Amino acid sequence: MSLSQMARSIHESVTLKLNQTAALLREKGEPVIHLGGGEPKSKTPIDAIVACTGVLNSGDIKYTPPDGIPALKKAIIRYTEEHYGRQVRPENVVASCGAKQAIMAALIAILDPKDEVIFPVPYWVSYPEMVKLAGGVPVPIVPEDGSFHPTIRELEDAVGSYSKAIILNSPNNPSGVMYSREFIGQVVQLAERKSLYLIMDDTYNRLVFDGRSPINCYDFSTQDPEQSKLLVINCVSKMYAMTGFRIGWAVGCRELVQAMATIQSQQTSGPATPSQWAAVGALNGIQNSIEALRLTLENNRNILMDQLNAFPGVRVTRPDGAFYCFPDFSNYEKNSQKLSEFLLQKVRVVTVPGREFGMEGHLRLSFCGTAKEITQGVERIRWALDPTAPNELYLGDRRLVRDWM
Ligand code: PMP
Repeated sequence: MSLSQMARSIHESVTLKLNQTAALLREKGEPVIHLGGGEPKSKTPIDAIVACTGVLNSGDIKYTPPDGIPALKKAIIRYTEEHYGRQVRPENVVASCGAKQAIMAALIAILDPKDEVIFPVPYWVSYPEMVKLAGGVPVPIVPEDGSFHPTIRELEDAVGSYSKAIILNSPNNPSGVMYSREFIGQVVQLAERKSLYLIMDDTYNRLVFDGRSPINCYDFSTQDPEQSKLLVINCVSKMYAMTGFRIGWAVGCRELVQAMATIQSQQTSGPATPSQWAAVGALNGIQNSIEALRLTLENNRNILMDQLNAFPGVRVTRPDGAFYCFPDFSNYEKNSQKLSEFLLQKVRVVTVPGREFGMEGHLRLSFCGTAKEITQGVERIRWALDPTAPNELYLGDRRLVRDWM
């Protein structure tokens, strides 16, 4: 079999693979706790279901414009006005198959071979692979002080003649940290000064804790919107718990958005019609599910933090938003892949190795499940690693004895 160099160079999505592993083990009756997931447990908002079943019941489900139906664009325009205070036109909006396709289409639209894309470490697993798929070169920036917050100087030092774009994701997957207002402002200004594209991945923008407000990157832009290289990405996947519908969108200058729409027209012919109507329903419907989700996540974050703070040897940074935490387990095992496999094998807890996000020694733990899953999951991890924990553990009615210390 001769596969392309590209196909051979791209890694499979580790997080999606872990979902499959967890599902297979569960099918076999294994008491798996999935702390590796990236989707809220809550149900699709009723307004989304109603709008989606409406079009399904009509039986008239046809191609749509590749950049989205007018009703969805209208809903996105309203969303942008309400949450970003920015007035945009339909030509500034492209609806995609999830935030993932929006980012991918943008990268294809802007990158020439060898062009570089800068993003801070830890980063969302897919950024490096997506940049490579688009023919570019990923340039991850590791904060020198060991924190999850790069400095503007670190970013600026990475800008060279091949630099084409910066991707910023805040609150961040996998660390849950929210970059400061000051930092986001500096990045917007850096991008404008150096004429770089800035892809603001606002997937978790509204899922923030401790009384914080979402940060609006437009506050710092001084350019004419049609000259601006700022592209803002959003989706219904996380805030409305609608991952399976696969609807995301981008808002940016007409020229870039038009190029993205053309790319999509040759890739997928645009997102699935029922899903677009579901997104219209979610965006135009009653909005209380977002606040309910945000509160649940904040509560889960608190539970997880209490447990991790009591876990000897684990260093943890308190997440400001999203539903991920990225503790440092290197006092127990420096190889995160080995540690993650060990935890799955010994105590049936799914975690994601930090290596996938560009930081060894860490594990990504999700807190989008139930409080019970979080508590029991961390209890099991602690039992597996901490020699001061009791020697026995019950998984359901199965008694485990720790024989590896
Ligand atoms: N960006 C980030 C930071 C994400 O975490 C995810 C999903 N895990 C996406 C984009 C993609 O979202 P979607 O499912 O809408 O494609």
